Parts: sequence; structure tokens; C-alpha cells
Amino acid sequence: MNATSFMELGLRPELLRAVAESGYTIPTPIQQQAIPLVLAGRDVMGGAQTGTGKTAGFALPILQRLAPHASSSPSPARHPVRALILAPTRELAIQVEESIKEYGKYTGLRSTCVFGGVDIKQQLAIVRAGVEILVATPGRLLDHVEQKSVNLGQVEILVLDEADRMLDMGFIPDIKRIMRLLPPAAKRQNLLFSATFSNEIKKLADELLNQPQLIEVARRNTAAELVVQTAYKVPQDAKRALLEHIVRSRNVWQVLCFVRTKHGASRLARQLEKDGLATSAIHGDKTQIARLEALSAFKDGKLQVLVATDVAARGLDIEDMPLVVNYELPHVPEDYIHRIGRTGRAGATGEAMSFVAPEEEKYLVEIEKLLRKKVAIVVAEGFDPSAARSERPVRSAHDKPTHSARESRVPRTPREPRPPRINDKARERVPSADARHAERELAYARNPDQPITTRDDGAAPNRSALIHGHPAHGRGDTKRPVPALLMKRPAPEAEKV
Ligand code: AMP
Repeated sequence: MNATSFMELGLRPELLRAVAESGYTIPTPIQQQAIPLVLAGRDVMGGAQTGTGKTAGFALPILQRLAPHASSSPSPARHPVRALILAPTRELAIQVEESIKEYGKYTGLRSTCVFGGVDIKQQLAIVRAGVEILVATPGRLLDHVEQKSVNLGQVEILVLDEADRMLDMGFIPDIKRIMRLLPPAAKRQNLLFSATFSNEIKKLADELLNQPQLIEVARRNTAAELVVQTAYKVPQDAKRALLEHIVRSRNVWQVLCFVRTKHGASRLARQLEKDGLATSAIHGDKTQIARLEALSAFKDGKLQVLVATDVAARGLDIEDMPLVVNYELPHVPEDYIHRIGRTGRAGATGEAMSFVAPEEEKYLVEIEKLLRKKVAIVVAEGFDPSAARSERPVRSAHDKPTHSARESRVPRTPREPRPPRINDKARERVPSADARHAERELAYARNPDQPITTRDDGAAPNRSALIHGHPAHGRGDTKRPVPALLMKRPAPEAEKV
């Protein structure tokens, strides 16, 4: 079916009205394929990257299916959770729920979003009052189950969004626990969306979906084709000057700049800010409020550069973002696809450039293998890497200096000894533990959306066991295996300090 309008897809007038107000006229390819299938009650395995319009692809038909259940009754019993949408990060969860609110504003259905990193008390009242559609990160959802604020026994539709990312982040045990709290798979509709289809994802789909209809809008493991991709060969210590040169000479705003570590993100943002670029950083060490503020400033066009780690940037939905910079190449090639999927969204053209230091060339080779094409190597006009190696920003004749001449003459202060980090203590505590486990556990401590992993010594992170009546499934009280994909991956990269 090739519907050229939302009306042809058979959506209810209240949804059509909301869609029209969102400014959409033509359904995107994933919407054309997914909407009729979901409306027909089929299970769907959707291969679609963020930016293809997949959220509306599942949200609109879910709203349509649940619309008859809308109730104005204040009784929580009249508002059971009927659709559960699981997302790997709080940012994606928030954005999905915003879309549901937007598309569902005339349906009378209730929705909310729960995620870690904020006081659960604020969420309890809303969840207890009853919502038909619940968007959640897995860990916080289990916290709500433990608090008995939510009952999942009446879920009719389950969505796993960005399932590949859930798998990468080690969420599968939590998801399996959640599955046991839902009605049997055969009695619910199951939708799984993933940008990539690894064997692990297929295995997960086999367990969760009933005779799913497979829909794909991009070839497997291909980057968004509208994104123009280039690479600059540049020494690590000249990257900042190159970034500043590009941002200033093109006078470009809303540049999303990826680095590999939280510490690196903070440091780069600080340096760029000092050099006069409106910059902020978004990573797992930032408070939820700081992350939302940075995101909102970026969306409003108030930032030239937003420095982000892979995990924090997951699911960011920023329209018309012109440029993604891979300031450091990801060590897992799939992350490159996720990163560049931030630009060139829903038909817009975008640009992604990678800064490749000599020691990163091997990662570029891996990325090119996954893309099945070469990334064009280019040089920046007017940029001299050897002059930039001092880390001073290079300016062209057209660049306006953004800080005073006096400031630029001030010699760089020697590095202060770094303060002790949370990791240092923990590394002492877990001397024999595998470094990956220690890192992941600490990552969890800093980002509660991350699932818990067990240390090699068998000790569990200090989080209470869950799900009464299922002691074997208590969180953190059993030794839990590392998911296969994680085992295959090189040393932990994302958001490592
Ligand atoms: P998603 O892949 O769901 O994250 O959507 C990516 C972006 O596409 C979002 O900013 C949506 O608002 C936008 N979008 C979704 N559907 C359409 C459509 N039919 N026409 C134009 N833009 C859309």
C-alpha cells in the first residue's frame, strides 16, 4: 500500500486533526507500512532508524486502537496501562511521550513517561492516577512495579523502541523481567523497532513477537542516505581548532559534536565555551535538569555546539540539525550510524563529518565496512593543522574574534591535578573485578537508566530486590550474565570517564 495521505491510512478524525497541526501532510515510508499493520493488530518488527518518522508509525495506530477506551472517569481503575512503550534512554522516552501527547491530544487518552535520575515521588502520583499509555525506561519501570504504583496485567500493546540499543546497554534481563509481568505474548500485540538487525535482535524478536510482519525502510545497517559524510584526517590535538574553524568559518549553529567519554565531553565544552562558542554538554554525569536545559537551548538554536556522548544523545529528536561532528570516532561502528542519524531526518539533507586522528584510522575502516562504502576524505580550506597543534583556535580573515586580545595572549594555565573521581574509589573497592563490570556498575550509579550488572565477585549493587514472588528475578540479587553482544564488544566505550 502506498498511501499518499494520512486519511487514506484510515486514521480517525481526531488523529488526522493532530497530525495536520503537526504539519505533516504525507506519511513517511515507515508510517505507510507500519500504520495499516498495527491497526490490523499484527505484530511488527520494524527496521527503521530514528529520523524516519517511526514514532508516529507506531504511536498513531496505537492511539487509534486505544481511543475507544478513553474515559473521563477520575477512577484509576478506568485507566489501566494498555500500551507500554520501552525506550533505552530518558531522552528517547521523553520524546516518544511528547509525540504521543501531541498526536493524541484530541483522543482523551492519558499518557505519561517514567525514567530514572529524578525523584520517583513526582512520578508516583501521575502513574497511580492511571494512564492508558506508559512510556518508560526499563529500570525505572521496575522501580514503579516494586512500589506497586503500576500494574502491567492489562497491557494490550507492547513496543520496544530502539531495541538494538537496549541490547547494547544490557537491558535485556530487565526486559525479560518486565515480560513476565505482562499478559502472555499471544494475548498482546508486540512491536519491535531497531535501527540494525543483528542476530541477537532476531533472537529477541523470536522470543517476543508472534509471527511478526517485517518492515524495513532502509537497507540493513546502512546510514541515512541523505546524509553527506566526510572525514578529516587530523591529529588529536588539532581537533578543537578544526572544529572551531569549521563552526566559525561557516557560521553554523546547532552542531552536534560526539565524543567518547563524559570527561572528554565536559572538557571540550568548557574549552569551546572559553574560546567564545555558545556550547553546552550532555552526558550521563549531568543532572536530568541540566540535560534537559542543554537540549532545550540546543533545540531553540541558542547553542552553536552541543557536545554529547553516545548514550546521552540517544533518541534526540532535533529537527533540521545541519551538522553532526564525530570529534572522536566511535569504537563500535553501529554507533556511527546512530550518530549520523541525528541529521538528515525525515527527508531533510544533513551532513556528518568525522575527525580522524592517526590512531583512529582503524575505526574508520570498520565503519566503512559496515557502510559498504568509503567516506570521502576532505581537507578544511584555510586550516593549517600544524599551526593548530598548540590547540589555539585558528581564525580566517573573516572570523570575528570572540574574546579579547588580552585573553588570547594569556598563556594557558598548567593543568590542575584532577580531583578524585567516583571511579577511583570504586576501583579500589573492586580491585579484582573485571574492568568492564566496574565501569558498567559505576555508569549505572551515575545514570540510573542503565541496567544493573553484577560484579564478578558476586556482590550486587546496592539496590533492592524486586518483584515479590519471583525471588530468582530480583534485581541484583543473582549473578547475571553479560549479554552476548556486550561480550563481543571491545572494552566499554560509551561514557567511560
Ligand atoms: P522519528 O523517526 O519518529 O524520531 O521522527 C523524526 C522526525 O520526523 C520528527 O521530528 C517528526 O516530527 C518528523 N516526522 C514524523 N512524521 C513525519 C511526516 N509524516 N512528515 C514530516 N515529518 C515527520
